[in-house]
Amino acid sequence: MARDFYEVLGVPKKASQDEIKKAYRTLARQYHPDRNPGDEEAEEHFKEVQQAYDTLSEPEKRKEYDAGGMFSGIGGGGRPFGGGGFTSDLGDIFSTFFNRGREPQPARGRDLETEVRLNFDQAVNGTQMTVSVPKYERCTTCDGSGAKPGTSPKVCPRCGGRGIDTESQGFFSISQPCPQCGGSGQLIEEPCETCGGSGLTRQIKRYKVNIPAGVKDGTRIRLSGKGEAGPRGGPPGDLYVTTRVSPSPVFKQLDDGNLEVTVPITVAEALQGGTVEVPTLNGSKRIRVPAGTKHGTVQRLRGEGPPRPGGRSRGDIRYRLEIDVPSDLSREQRKAVDDLAEAFNGSNPRERLLRQASAAPGKVSEE
Ligand code: ZN
Ligand code: ZN
Repeated sequence: MARDFYEVLGVPKKASQDEIKKAYRTLARQYHPDRNPGDEEAEEHFKEVQQAYDTLSEPEKRKEYDAGGMFSGIGGGGRPFGGGGFTSDLGDIFSTFFNRGREPQPARGRDLETEVRLNFDQAVNGTQMTVSVPKYERCTTCDGSGAKPGTSPKVCPRCGGRGIDTESQGFFSISQPCPQCGGSGQLIEEPCETCGGSGLTRQIKRYKVNIPAGVKDGTRIRLSGKGEAGPRGGPPGDLYVTTRVSPSPVFKQLDDGNLEVTVPITVAEALQGGTVEVPTLNGSKRIRVPAGTKHGTVQRLRGEGPPRPGGRSRGDIRYRLEIDVPSDLSREQRKAVDDLAEAFNGSNPRERLLRQASAAPGKVSEE
């Protein structure tokens, strides 16, 4: 039969939690296997001390123990003991600090990134694409446990399943992932042959991605839960798909979701006005060019642009009118321009500019 826990720690039944802790530290240090190599008696003492402290250090368990309940110290909090050292109290501090429970929490899988190439039409109207993603997925042979089917992982004897190794050096303690189990808290004695014990296998997964209308180059689309599988059965990460859109020679995607087209007009069209034919997403339309249009004037066709997010309305196409000034003139054109110059003779468009400049303090030298 196990000895009385109070007796093991050498404290009275009414001892405070502090006194229990102090007694435990002294005894654990005294019987630590590192200090008593090969001494089986010391190791037994050490285990006893650990077991007693595991129960008495937790008020709930202590109450139950005092009341003489079924709890023995092994059933509830008891873990297999090894050369773990001062794990009980310091391990708990570590656990709280990192928000980890007694068992190592399964970690979330990594997020993955991939790209999808779209032509301009696909980007504007939206489409469905398939992406192939190489990734680690839960091994189907062992269902992610890493253990050969028919066997199951054992609790790591070194860290007792905590995944943390705490070494005491005098007053200092160093906590680190358990070197025996790598922090998983589990040991796999017969690894799964398919995944070699990792619980994960490399696979190429294909996913259909719904590309919403109006995406631009560099838009990121998140596929929740389609990232890497989590180690030890943890939740998967997400998959981010970045769109790469080949630019259109005609339509420029603006940040506000509209499109812009540069439309050349002749000097005569700018002066006289009229209607000109312009490209739209599904053909062409005519827009009005007012008489006296200036270079860079914008006309818009509302609702001819790409669908807006949600798809219930469409953006606009902005047509930027640029006056096409020819650098070479035919004999006939030269004659026409001479006539034009003659007709405008006498009106100097810089008159006001120069008047303003000479009125301003400073220097404008007139020749
Ligand atoms: Zn371990
Ligand atoms: Zn496996």
